[in-house]
Amino acid sequence: MRNNDIDSLFSFIDSSPTPYHAVENMVQTLKGHNGIELIESDDWECKAGNLYYVTRNDGSIIAFRTPKIIDFSKVAYNMVAAHTDSPCLKLKPFKKDITGNYMQWGVSIYGGALLNSWLDRDLNISGRINYIQEGELQQKLISIGDLFFRVPQLAIHLDREANAGLKLNSETNMVPVLGLNDDEYSFEDLLLERLDVKGVEAKDISAMDLYFHESQPCSYGGMKQEFIFGPRIDNLAMTHASYEALLADSPNTKVSLIASFDHEEIGSSSPHGASSNFLNSVLERITIALGGSREEFMKALTRSYLVSADMAHALHPNYEDRHDGVHRPLINQGPVIKMNARMRFATDSQTASRFVLLCRQADVPYQMFTGRNDIPSGSTVGPLIATKLGVSTIDVGNAQLGMHSAREMAGSLDHGMMIKVFSELFAE
Ligand SMILES: [Zn+2]
Repeated sequence: MRNNDIDSLFSFIDSSPTPYHAVENMVQTLKGHNGIELIESDDWECKAGNLYYVTRNDGSIIAFRTPKIIDFSKVAYNMVAAHTDSPCLKLKPFKKDITGNYMQWGVSIYGGALLNSWLDRDLNISGRINYIQEGELQQKLISIGDLFFRVPQLAIHLDREANAGLKLNSETNMVPVLGLNDDEYSFEDLLLERLDVKGVEAKDISAMDLYFHESQPCSYGGMKQEFIFGPRIDNLAMTHASYEALLADSPNTKVSLIASFDHEEIGSSSPHGASSNFLNSVLERITIALGGSREEFMKALTRSYLVSADMAHALHPNYEDRHDGVHRPLINQGPVIKMNARMRFATDSQTASRFVLLCRQADVPYQMFTGRNDIPSGSTVGPLIATKLGVSTIDVGNAQLGMHSAREMAGSLDHGMMIKVFSELFAE
């Protein structure tokens, strides 16, 4: 069940080890489709029938296509929101002391990582380095993809209880090994080498956002290649699906918009997370840049629709009791509509119905999910944005297993189905 949608997703995930790389890749793709960059600190002027994008802090991006004809009595935003970040190990600012002759570097746990999945994996390092060059602040993305690092698991002989329930201390047991100590060649030397900026020395590196991440490329799995295996499927898959649909250049009469935010995995509270003013500000500025007023912006919000797209939990065959008997998302059975009576997901019957209609128009099946009452629900950007904007919102996603593992698993058919549904939305 190989297909172009998944091949494209694989190349996006493999080349996007961090949110910064994901946004950079999207920017390059948007530019290739005549996307016009908007800078938040500049004046904006938008025209009908164009593709625009704006980024914030290099990890969050909003891209949109304006309608072919602007009629302010009908202007509305059809939006898909996702996130660019995934749980991982983030390098602390300073290195850990040497133990024995090992060279190590301390990490913070970013998001709700399944720590055991990071053990005994070959890890790379990517992110951004900030430095000072001739008195000016500079920044560069780096990706160390040719060197491999590890968090080695303790041998069973030294931890006889490991199979009865592995206990991992997030501070002391998860420190990756970079190599053996070498007075002549430090980790900072490696970073300087990869930074590759003339005249910049170790003292000039002012700060960095660097992450350990899975090195093995994505692959198909299963007897008929019905599965996909790879890192960061949550939520680069929905980010990818949304921008694939946007790039299709449908004959839209509404503003088609995608937003993919950094920091969802740590609660979305940051100047560029989903709880920030990023989306709100961009929406208002689009209306004004098209020649509308604040009044028209407020009216447009009431006509708008937001699809919050984040991956969903598929039924796990070895833990059947974690779902209720009916609402058990199955792999390759289409998009999952997520419901939660306590509004941990923003879906209600009206917003769900609109999505069901889109699925019907796209000739795509859909599934309904609600969690067990005795297992607290996760959440995502949907309820946060819905609360802020007051826009009709639904939470959806594709079914996957091993969410927040260093290497996750999903279906090879679901992705194309979600792109089709988003394309229907963006054709309105
Ligand atoms: Zn997610």
